[in-house]
Amino acid sequence: MSKRDYYEVLGVERGADKAELKKAFRRLAMKYHPDRNPDDPDSAQEHFKEAKEAYEVLSDEQKRAAYDQFGHDGLKSGGFGGGGFSGDVGDIFGDIFGDIFGGGGRRRQRRGADLRYPLDLDLEEAVHGVTREIKVPTLVGCEGCGGTGSEDGRRKSCGTCGGVGQVRMQQGIFSVQQTCPACRGQGQVVENPCNRCGGAGRVQEQKTLSVRIPPGVDDGDRIRLAGEGEAGERGTQSGDLYVEVQVRQHPIFQRDGDDLYCEIPIRFGTAALGGEMRVPTLDGDVNLKIPAETQSGRMFRMRGKGVKSVRSRSKGDLLCRVTVETPVKLNREQKDLLRAFEASLGDETEEHSQNPKASSWMDSVKQFFDRMA
Ligand SMILES: [Zn+2]
Ligand SMILES: [Zn+2]
Repeated sequence: MSKRDYYEVLGVERGADKAELKKAFRRLAMKYHPDRNPDDPDSAQEHFKEAKEAYEVLSDEQKRAAYDQFGHDGLKSGGFGGGGFSGDVGDIFGDIFGDIFGGGGRRRQRRGADLRYPLDLDLEEAVHGVTREIKVPTLVGCEGCGGTGSEDGRRKSCGTCGGVGQVRMQQGIFSVQQTCPACRGQGQVVENPCNRCGGAGRVQEQKTLSVRIPPGVDDGDRIRLAGEGEAGERGTQSGDLYVEVQVRQHPIFQRDGDDLYCEIPIRFGTAALGGEMRVPTLDGDVNLKIPAETQSGRMFRMRGKGVKSVRSRSKGDLLCRVTVETPVKLNREQKDLLRAFEASLGDETEEHSQNPKASSWMDSVKQFFDRMA
């Protein structure tokens, strides 16, 4: 049987560019896909194969040049195996099958698996953003065969299913139609498997990637790198890579959404008399005014000194909780001074006590005993 002109098969002009070819092929592939033509699967499959072959040749610059000059003979003499799959064709199948059949498609080719990569970051890196190089062990497209799994581009009809891509399985009293396991529904298998990948079209490798982490990411955030997951079988669509952020514990700050918390020990004298402190933030030191008579546990809010998350428009706050530290390793003189100071304080039971908390606590205790009596 003499072959039809490839341009005629695809219904495009001789000067058609790659996008036009791809569009034409997609249209034909959808029209003639065997699953869409259950009434006449044989004829549909013939058309499908014809379009596939035409596209494979015309989308390859070298093959197209040979074909333009010498026609179908040019491909034979050039040593190109007609009708083989190229990686590009495989990609298109991935697209088409994804489009038409979604997740439940019977003939859908297997897409490469998604991968998860945990990435440890310091709080500063998560807040300010960072670019990190990561090494991901994954399956990548085999260079020996361009991901097709074939040593020489030759394919043959699948022996298991007779080329239809489907097999009938007996399950009890039911006969069930299933995707052929040998060819994964493609109807064709590689004639001579690639030496490097054994026909899988992909090999295990350590892939190095540069990942840009946007400012404001938080623990548990995931960054999707489309197409950077495992390569699909025999040139089909790759999976995605999800970089999962894990923020290391910070020696000073704890993050809660857009806010940062920190605990600041202050001296007893500063708490009583008031003063100023240098407080660290993720953008440098700032002054914090401690008012006189500050009690331990008091929280100070510093507006806009927190974090701007990837999702929010404004910056959160820095919350500083001060704790009054009891002085240690006192010498005799200091102890004497403190005793004198203690003696100078009034009794907790006095009306104008200088220890209001202790006074109110004493009152509560007294009422408690009164009720018991
Ligand atoms: Zn290979
Ligand atoms: Zn098969």
